[in-house]
Amino acid sequence: MGKQIRVLVTGAGGFIGHHLVNRLKAEGHWVRGIDLKVPDYEPSQADEFEILDLRKYDSCLQATRGRIEHVYNLAADMGGIGYITGSHAEIAKNNVLINTHMLEAARLNGITRFLFSSSACVYPSYKQKKVDIDPLREEDAYPADPEPGYGWEKLFTEELCRYYRRDYGFDTRIVRFHNVYGPLGTYEGGKEKAPAAISRKVALARDGDEIEIWGDGKQTRSFMYVDDCVEGLLRLMASTYSEPLNLGMSTMISVDGLVELVMAIAGKRLMKRYDLTKPQGVRGRNSDNSRLAQVLGWEPSIALEVGLEVTYRWIESELRMADRVRVVSGHRAA
Ligand code: NAD
Repeated sequence: MGKQIRVLVTGAGGFIGHHLVNRLKAEGHWVRGIDLKVPDYEPSQADEFEILDLRKYDSCLQATRGRIEHVYNLAADMGGIGYITGSHAEIAKNNVLINTHMLEAARLNGITRFLFSSSACVYPSYKQKKVDIDPLREEDAYPADPEPGYGWEKLFTEELCRYYRRDYGFDTRIVRFHNVYGPLGTYEGGKEKAPAAISRKVALARDGDEIEIWGDGKQTRSFMYVDDCVEGLLRLMASTYSEPLNLGMSTMISVDGLVELVMAIAGKRLMKRYDLTKPQGVRGRNSDNSRLAQVLGWEPSIALEVGLEVTYRWIESELRMADRVRVVSGHRAA
């Protein structure tokens, strides 16, 4: 990006939003961040940071005031599989309110480009019933059968972006993230996702201990490091492409494989206890990046081993600072 512009990031107190603000500031842009809370682990670098509830239309008008050019709308009520399957009504209602109000306020305040963060949860369950599924292409989203609650809302807002483009000429971008991970993300409390949850469990365990795995460990996913995610966001925003676009890694791994990787990074051997009563989501999911590569001339490439090492070390250091992991003569022990 050459020209310096005025940017609004909603969800700037959250995981991806905070990393995005850091990157936009590093590139010299003026940034306003909005969230219900400040970032959990370090201060925001945004030029302005306001606490607003974007379910309210007036708050969205306030957030988009003052000659903002680009909006990255990342605010959402979301979490890992346990969280998003736990309260469909509340999550769908909150996100419908945020996204409909943000779109309308952004349009009325003359925003020139608006990016909506959708999700791989829009893909139909009937395409994700095997562990070795075909990677999901953008057109696979229909006929629709997305994740209840969270996924239906994302799919509806994708449509709403299309209507705004068609009826008002409002310039929108739609990104479908596939599992983003990295440091400075939630790692406990119920909203964390698999890489962070597994890293926490491994960091807290002593060599030889047992850790709990949700499901039978054979379910598959792909995982994208947050730096790749932010790079993809900037590239998509700078492009002219307004249809939904996958943004994820196209390398699939099972949850068992993920646990093995984290154990290798930690230098621990642990027993796995599978809890089949816990939600595990679809059986298999992977991103087809053909269109991403074609549209952006780029795709995510940071290897899971590399990103997970950084993520694990960060979570472990957080737990150590909280005195929950101790270092005993060069070896870590819980
Ligand atoms: P996150 O939960 O860390 O960040 C979302 C932020 O939105 C939170 O800080 C939250 O406080 C804020 N928020 C929630 N309700 C709000 C409200 N009413 N008003 C203002 N702010 C509110 O999540 P994230 O991982 O950074 O995700 C960012 C976006 O990407 C979300 O739209 C999410 O649905 C989407 N997404 C993320 C992933 C992933 O793997 N992280 C995958 C698919 C889609």
